[in-house]
Amino acid sequence: MCGFVGLIAERPVATDLVIALQAIQHRGQDAAGLGTWEDGRVHMRKGLGMISEAVPPSSLPGLSGHAGIAHVRYPTAGAESTQEDAQPFRTRSPGILLAHNGNVTNVPEVTEGLKEQGIVVLSSCDAEPILLVFAAELRQRRSGGHTAADVVEAVRGVYRRVKGAYSVVAMVEVDGSPTLVAFRDPHGIRPGVYGQRADGAWMAASESVALDVHDIPKTDDLPVGDVLFLRPGQGALQLPVTSGTPRPCIFERIYFARPDSVMEDGRVNRLRWLMGRQLAQEWRAKGFEADVVVAVPDTSRPAAMAMADELGVRHREGFIKNRYTGRTFIMPDQASRDAALRLKLNPIREIFEGQRVLLVDDSIVRGSTMRRIVQMLRRMEPAALHVAIFSPAVRHPCFYGIDMPSPDELVAAQVPPDEVEAMLTKRFGADSVSFLSLDGLARVTGGPVCAACFDGQYVVPVSVRERAAILSDRRT
Ligand code: SF4
Repeated sequence: MCGFVGLIAERPVATDLVIALQAIQHRGQDAAGLGTWEDGRVHMRKGLGMISEAVPPSSLPGLSGHAGIAHVRYPTAGAESTQEDAQPFRTRSPGILLAHNGNVTNVPEVTEGLKEQGIVVLSSCDAEPILLVFAAELRQRRSGGHTAADVVEAVRGVYRRVKGAYSVVAMVEVDGSPTLVAFRDPHGIRPGVYGQRADGAWMAASESVALDVHDIPKTDDLPVGDVLFLRPGQGALQLPVTSGTPRPCIFERIYFARPDSVMEDGRVNRLRWLMGRQLAQEWRAKGFEADVVVAVPDTSRPAAMAMADELGVRHREGFIKNRYTGRTFIMPDQASRDAALRLKLNPIREIFEGQRVLLVDDSIVRGSTMRRIVQMLRRMEPAALHVAIFSPAVRHPCFYGIDMPSPDELVAAQVPPDEVEAMLTKRFGADSVSFLSLDGLARVTGGPVCAACFDGQYVVPVSVRERAAILSDRRT
């Protein structure tokens, strides 16, 4: 998972880009980068770590130019982030600066195709093959002076050769003017939005919160199957490439995106609320009762509040989250793992003691954290401890850019679907474990989405060979 921001204006952009990028820091903390475009020359600063480390304030005076692209990286491929994998990437002929969010599922095939053209991929970042294909397709039309029609054909070439999920933003000279170009894969699996500032500048970003910090109203989501051309002071130009059917990632809404972001289907916070309300109806139908609803902070809070509302039960903050712990290291023994969890998430005894508690969380992947939370809460002596997850059980890995473990590490994939709740109730030591049903999820989302990690229906087919390659490349 990654996040990008592109900005084209009539004044320097570096500071505005860094500020907007901070709004989507949650989309990646491994590396960050900023490239600016000045009369066809690119100034670049990339590095490992958070934005403030990778692109420190002292670097901004050197990043001059009225257009640019910034990126935060969370690797889904490659063992560890290296500086070479940080985005944006660039080519000199033709001059392109590009960043993306997503995952290419046929990297070996794309790399092989490029090799046959004499083009070598140097990094393990998917942005590079996308960029190199885009550049090669542009060059095939003409060596320079590219038109909007050339870009449309080049994106068509990307669609033909590059499979997977990707939202892309690029700086290219089109029809003689610097242009911010944006496109998404033909299913629009990964998010992207754009909007115009009052002074005519255009911004495209992974989430609308990046626009919010500059008071830029969202014009729309990045189009699916079309390519978008943005120039300061002008209207957006949108040209069709193929007929696309949006199938946005539902897991973005459940877990990844900021709750205040607005996506195709509305504000993320609202969707989490609706999922919580739907889950409450399903949970009540099972005959369970609770005295208090508690969210595992922070993602599940709107769903927990909706459950409390729907069930007519009070909602209470039951945990104090320590925001200064940083990453959890792999702990050698149970005692230190318990201490690390308690350091991050300290329960308030009075909220749990003697109460029938309904604990709400967003998802279960490996299940180890929830097991430790339940064990920790048992020591608070609740009268009952029910766990409710406001998404269906994750039973399949994601190949489209969300870093999930292989199927044998997904706890809910170890038993048939109708045995998952009973198995986890026992494993966690809870009184019950409930998931939102697939039907319930479909009722909330309304339209077509990607929910492959829940239902195994992959929007873009991924061959057995591609699956094996992606999973073996994934971090453990
Ligand atoms: S498989 Fe799951 S996480 Fe991956 S894109 Fe689809 S919904 Fe999102």
